[in-house]
Amino acid sequence: MDKEIFDLILEETSRQNRGIELIASENYASKEVREACGSILTNKYAEGYPARRYYGGCEVVDKIESIAIARACELFGSKFANVQSHSGSQANAAAYRALMPEGGKVLSLVLNDGGHLTHGSPVSFSSHLYNFVHYPLDVEGRLDYENILKIALEEKPDVILAGYSAYPYEIDFKRIREICDYVGCKMMVDMAHIAGLIAAGLHNSPVALADITTTTTHKTLRGPRGGLILTNDEALAKKINSAVFPYYQGGPLEHIIAAKAICFKEANTDSFKAYMASVKENTKACADEFEKLGVKSSGSENHLFLLNVLDSFGINGKEAQAKLEEIDITTNKNMIPGDTLPPNKTSGLRIGFAASTTRGCTKEDAIEIAHIICDYLSNSKSQEECVAKVHTMTSSWKATEEI
Ligand SMILES: *Cc1c(COP(=O)(O)O)cnc(C)c1O
Repeated sequence: MDKEIFDLILEETSRQNRGIELIASENYASKEVREACGSILTNKYAEGYPARRYYGGCEVVDKIESIAIARACELFGSKFANVQSHSGSQANAAAYRALMPEGGKVLSLVLNDGGHLTHGSPVSFSSHLYNFVHYPLDVEGRLDYENILKIALEEKPDVILAGYSAYPYEIDFKRIREICDYVGCKMMVDMAHIAGLIAAGLHNSPVALADITTTTTHKTLRGPRGGLILTNDEALAKKINSAVFPYYQGGPLEHIIAAKAICFKEANTDSFKAYMASVKENTKACADEFEKLGVKSSGSENHLFLLNVLDSFGINGKEAQAKLEEIDITTNKNMIPGDTLPPNKTSGLRIGFAASTTRGCTKEDAIEIAHIICDYLSNSKSQEECVAKVHTMTSSWKATEEI
């Protein structure tokens, strides 16, 4: 009936299969997750929460949503979960509303150092509803907890926010909790990027420490596109629920909630733990190989790292991103600590291995990827030669529709 869209889905399938996906926030969801997303559950209106709905006929979706909630709580060791947020941004909006009144003060990371748009960007709702102040990374690009404490004592925020979009090292959530307790403020963690590592026990967990933890479900967690909010505090859980619905959202996406339930089950398996361990290993192997090749790399303790392409290849992040697309490698430009270029150019690239590892990228592949990128950005090998290597590698991996 709609050949136009059908053909474009085929075109995108081909793009996903041909290329090496190194965008750190992306992944490939399983067939089971995708089938739930495309299921008849999309037909149901279910405003409200299980057993407290505004509509009839919710007895089945009540069971689905209750399972999703129970599995989220089990996976992350949380008492309460809200699985209705349509995205990570929506989850953050609801969390802020539950934590403080409008105009409340949040202390979060400098956006150019790796904070998310919803952590106080002028183009996001967040900076208009709340008063954001920021802590920087140190000159080495690491969190400086002493400095966070110092700024918190000066600024007296209502909330300290941790969890980032481009931070390649482990975050010490216990330290952040101590700072919050010392200054007497709430702690919020946005674990959108590292939720998969936390689920797998490969990063210390904020869930028992933070007042509220938010996440996306589609990044390292490998589920459907969506958000999740966790807390152990019953009073906060009630506030979160009314902030998600009816304040910010209408009817929940029960097809996506079913897919989230499947994702939480998948993430609670030994095979997921093994997958996340490979992601970490591949990321470190690639980051370290760049270093060996003389390229300035942040190194990595999680699923991503940053490259300084300006110093290493004399081109900015925007140019490097465009050049790598010529050989079917997808990355994104990213600010690096102390960046001298604006956010629309940047000196860096952000590279992650969550997606490619799902398709079967090995440690050897990850090391070869560093060589291909280096060869192409330094103009020492031709486009034909590099793209051929990329296609040879991806043709040995699983196809996106088979995952
Ligand atoms: C990706 C991300 C989000 C937002 O997720 P969306 O689903 O795109 O709204 C929020 N916080 C952090 C730290 C992220 O990396």
